[in-house]
Amino acid sequence: MTYSCTGLSKICFLLSVTFCAFLLLLIPKFQTTWRPRGYPQPRPPPPFNSSCKSEFHQQQAEPSLTDHLDSEGTDITHSVKDETVEKWGHYSLRTGGSILKLKEQDGSPTSALQTMLKNYNGLEGDSIKENLKLQDIFIAVKTTRKYHKTRLDLLFQTWISQAKRQTFIFTDWEDHELRLIAGDHMINTNCSAVHTRQALCCKMSVEYDKFLESGRKWFCHVDDDNYLNPQTLLRLLSAFSHSQDIYVGKPSLDHPIEAADHVRSDGSTTVKFWFATGGAGFCISRGLALKMSPWASLGNFISTAERVRLPDDCTIGYIIEGLLEVKLLHSPLFHSHLENLQRLRGKSVLQQVTLSYGGPENKHNVVSVAGVFGLQQDPTRLKASPWWSDSLQCFSVGLSSSFSTSQY
Ligand code: UDP
Ligand code: MN
Repeated sequence: MTYSCTGLSKICFLLSVTFCAFLLLLIPKFQTTWRPRGYPQPRPPPPFNSSCKSEFHQQQAEPSLTDHLDSEGTDITHSVKDETVEKWGHYSLRTGGSILKLKEQDGSPTSALQTMLKNYNGLEGDSIKENLKLQDIFIAVKTTRKYHKTRLDLLFQTWISQAKRQTFIFTDWEDHELRLIAGDHMINTNCSAVHTRQALCCKMSVEYDKFLESGRKWFCHVDDDNYLNPQTLLRLLSAFSHSQDIYVGKPSLDHPIEAADHVRSDGSTTVKFWFATGGAGFCISRGLALKMSPWASLGNFISTAERVRLPDDCTIGYIIEGLLEVKLLHSPLFHSHLENLQRLRGKSVLQQVTLSYGGPENKHNVVSVAGVFGLQQDPTRLKASPWWSDSLQCFSVGLSSSFSTSQY
């Protein structure tokens, strides 16, 4: 049997065409096998706090979604990856937030105060807890008719000029001259113009209510023979959060007082507590002030003080330490004229939050500062203080006449 040459080449041609067709059929299969695979994303570490558990389960489900989409052949690997990273970024930020919060709760206010005091001693550090502005503070000045000229004028000439929008004057008389100067920052409490426990508690009660009404973050009380440095006050309060329970000031005694508890019992038991002396000034955070409300708001302060038969500043201490069990932060930066103010001299005066001066019976109890004003011109030494040397220049021509209602 013989094969013709043409027949043989036909068979060869057909065989090679079949082989090529077979090869072509194989190509897509190879292509799928070579395509780079989107591997599941590495799982992030489990979160710290158990309250995030449910979110963690959600996060675990997502990589399987990635696998599924990949097998469909749609290349969305990157977008899913980015989304996951974004979510975890957010997640860790939130975890960071909760750590921060915890630290805030754990770190006792006393240590915050210590940090702040360290900074005052020249060690630079960041003790700022809150980005506080002066307008977040409500400064209440307690005064009375007879001291409008003799005491208040001096305050207007000095520190109030630096904190006009923050300062509110609580008095007991409708003084038209003062009204012109202070506008609605003068509050006529209609309390009696006498130095009795009831009259002073009446004023404190109005101060407290007005503070709550103001919506501000901090309540600070001072007497009209106190001098306040707005900048050091701001720095002190910035070391805390206004939502923490903060009561800061200086006691005039070296021991807590003990009083019969007529609020929680019939007076047969006693309660021991510290209080910040009103004559040195003190501050209370909004968070704490709100908690005081059952015993302090809308006239309740007067009845609480009546029941425990204590003066205004002691009643504040009783409500905070005695009833709410929040400790007073003893600060060396507040000063009343009950202490020896001569000990404060030179640069340290600049670092204090409040100062005071002795009355007519103790004229020499003043801070020791040199200045352009001599003792005769400035017996309280407050004009001489470098705190307000800048603002004093404004007053060298006219004194309280430079204030107008519009400035408040
Ligand atoms: N004060 C008052 N009514 C009065 C007497 C005094 O509101 O009848 C105020 C006064 O303006 C000051 C505070 O109570 O803010 C304390 O008064 P002072 O300094 O005269 O007495 P201290 O208690 O310091 O000896
Ligand atoms: Mn006084």
